[in-house]
Amino acid sequence: MADRACATLVSLVVMQTGFRSLPSVDRLTSDERLKGLESTYSRGVVLEAARQLLQESRRAIAEGEAAPSLDALVESVSSRVRLLAEPSLVSVINATGVILHTNLGRAPLSREAVAAMELVSQGYNNLELDLETGRRGSRQVHVSSLLCRLTGAEDAMVVNNNASGVLLALTALARRKEVIVSRGQAVEIGGGFRIPDVMRQSGAKLVEVGTTNCTYLADYEKAVSSRTAALLRVHSSNFRIVGFTQDVALQELVELGHRHGLLVLDDLGSGCLLDTSRFGLDPEPRLQDSIAAGADLALCSGDKLLGGPQAGIIVGRKHLIEKLRKHPLARAVRIDKTRLAGLAATLLHYVKEEAEQKIPVWQMIAAPLSDLDRRARGWSAGLDGAEVIGGKSVVGGGSLPGGTLPTRLLAIRGAARGKGANVVPRLAAALRAQRPPIVPRIEGNALLLDPRTVLPEEDGAVRKALRDVVRSVAGSLPGGTGS
Ligand SMILES: *Cc1c(COP(=O)(O)O)cnc(C)c1O
Repeated sequence: MADRACATLVSLVVMQTGFRSLPSVDRLTSDERLKGLESTYSRGVVLEAARQLLQESRRAIAEGEAAPSLDALVESVSSRVRLLAEPSLVSVINATGVILHTNLGRAPLSREAVAAMELVSQGYNNLELDLETGRRGSRQVHVSSLLCRLTGAEDAMVVNNNASGVLLALTALARRKEVIVSRGQAVEIGGGFRIPDVMRQSGAKLVEVGTTNCTYLADYEKAVSSRTAALLRVHSSNFRIVGFTQDVALQELVELGHRHGLLVLDDLGSGCLLDTSRFGLDPEPRLQDSIAAGADLALCSGDKLLGGPQAGIIVGRKHLIEKLRKHPLARAVRIDKTRLAGLAATLLHYVKEEAEQKIPVWQMIAAPLSDLDRRARGWSAGLDGAEVIGGKSVVGGGSLPGGTLPTRLLAIRGAARGKGANVVPRLAAALRAQRPPIVPRIEGNALLLDPRTVLPEEDGAVRKALRDVVRSVAGSLPGGTGS
């Protein structure tokens, strides 16, 4: 009993000493090293960081930890200040080999698209002003005629993203009515978003027909009733059913739909304007093919294979687009000026037939293997434990399910077990901690970096980071320094 009381007393004394050795907020923030931060980040931010840290230190001391030194506190306040007053959304180097990576912001933009977005953001612009008449105009004119020229559609409009395009179309055209979809196309598009849920939000009733792997035209026909408004085709963007499958061609759907006076809507998902089979990939449905097949509306994303900023593209019949434009929901999902400018600049690359040379997504798809090999070798030259191997890049982003391109990878292998087994996750974490952060791919116990998705101007940064990171984690690499 006395022993316990004594121990409690000792720890109380230690705690009191710990508390007392902590500087006051004023003393901490008057340290010369932190004074310098005030001019960059403001006194308020430095104070906030110091208060947070001292509070956390008091809590840690109360739990029996030792008090941090002044140097450690200053160091922590500096990094806390950056956390509080620097943007957390930063540019990263994508070495995963996944061209359209939703977690990494999907499509990188062309120089021209970025310049156009910057230009309209810096000052005012003619977003909704007809310069000829001086009257109010529509923001849609900046892209609609481009989209019509590229797809052969009667009319076009652009909204916030493809999901909102689908929501708008179904709300304006099929609310309180039925929409028939093949069961194999009632898909989840990622991030937990499911086409059936988006459809329900519109107030349209989803009628699923067929089975997961097989849907026939007769299945659609049997489901048509007086309540049916539309037939909807959804591109099964992110998966592929192989083996015994049966799908209905869009043309057949159009023929059936129009015979019954129904609309035919085509959600292409990625959507694209170029022929992907030229690059050894499966043919990805193109907007112009949908329109040629007779779809009343075709919808797709702006930031998948199109290679532009986030947007939802809707092309098709004039009277339908007109209805969508006038619907109150159109205002709620409208696109902003910067993305409109970026999208117009991106579409102009297609008009000028220079997409493969100017749009990063297509440059990456078209990159010759010999270039990728040369760049991977450039990264690995003189790097302990690294080798260049063959592998596959992925198109990704809900397009070309299973679509891969042969590539060359820089590979660093970790040991299967024992010392060095965790070297791969450590290297990956160290690469992510670089500025700019580098995101590699991990496969089994190998760290892989794919030059296909790394912009050529980022090669220097990758080479330097690899050297620094491998040196700092060295010793645990098989065949590496110190092993
Ligand atoms: C990606 C995708 C969407 C959603 O597009 P966002 O532009 O991300 O809103 C909708 N439908 C399909 C089939 C898709 O692949």
